[in-house]
Amino acid sequence: MDEATFLKQIRLSFDDDELRLVYADWLEEQGRIEAELVRLEIGLCTMPVDDPARLGTETEFSRLTAGIDEHWKHQVLRVGPPRDDGDYCLCLNQKSELRFHRETQDTECDAWHQLLELIEKARRNGDHEFSPLEEIDDGHRIITLPPEIGMLKDVRRLHLYGSRLRIIPPEIGEMASLEQFFPYTSYQLHWFPWEITRCRKLADSGVSTRALYGNQRTRVGFPQLGSYASLGLTSPRAKRPCSVCRKPFKDKGEFRVWISRGVATDVIPMLVNACSMRCVEQLPRPAKNHISHVHRGGNVIQPPTWG
Ligand SMILES: [Zn+2]
Ligand SMILES: [Zn+2]
Repeated sequence: MDEATFLKQIRLSFDDDELRLVYADWLEEQGRIEAELVRLEIGLCTMPVDDPARLGTETEFSRLTAGIDEHWKHQVLRVGPPRDDGDYCLCLNQKSELRFHRETQDTECDAWHQLLELIEKARRNGDHEFSPLEEIDDGHRIITLPPEIGMLKDVRRLHLYGSRLRIIPPEIGEMASLEQFFPYTSYQLHWFPWEITRCRKLADSGVSTRALYGNQRTRVGFPQLGSYASLGLTSPRAKRPCSVCRKPFKDKGEFRVWISRGVATDVIPMLVNACSMRCVEQLPRPAKNHISHVHRGGNVIQPPTWG
């Protein structure tokens, strides 16, 4: 087969990973660097968004995509950094269930390097306040925070106004001094890690409820949870700590649940990645006027009381 035929077939069966792997082998025979990119891309498409190895894979992916032809990327890749897609998240317009955002963090861009430097500087200085996006030129390119955020033990106020964040890593739970958390108008941020409940001093928050629950006309559901195998996802290779008991475990996605609870001044949906049913049962009761039990998402509509 020649490349044009491969590209045509990929266009017709966009989610056929077998075909993509054959294409990757062919690319490798031609000595093309894109071979590795195609394989990494398949990995990213089947990796849970909060897999601890994801950022490492995204880093490799970013490095490899840097010099690749834009047209080729557009034809072949299913994931990549988001385009600057405006303030309001498009997935809130859909009437169907919400899905996890699976765009990738471009770790090659200046914004990402600036963020890492700002975290290091704030850690060294023992800063009480951290507002990185105010100092970064292309802040919209930041869609996740690095695990290093957990090293900011002195930070009391974390401002992330108007961010394009899709995911907050569990390491936020290690920010022991955090008192105020403001991701206000971060419209792509639909959920938080349960680990944020470890920030015992957290008392004040500003979260855009619209980003979490939609609005009165359009309510949004939750991304579906379940064992990774049943969702067509791969299990993380390395053990990861349980969100509840912190013990490292081999995660197969079997005890992942959603829970909505009050954290500081907002009720937020949180993803719990537990190691066992026992740990799920240890969770406290969800907030009043929200789904009264832990759940696994799908066509579940969160019913906060409006008005
Ligand atoms: Zn969204
Ligand atoms: Zn556990």
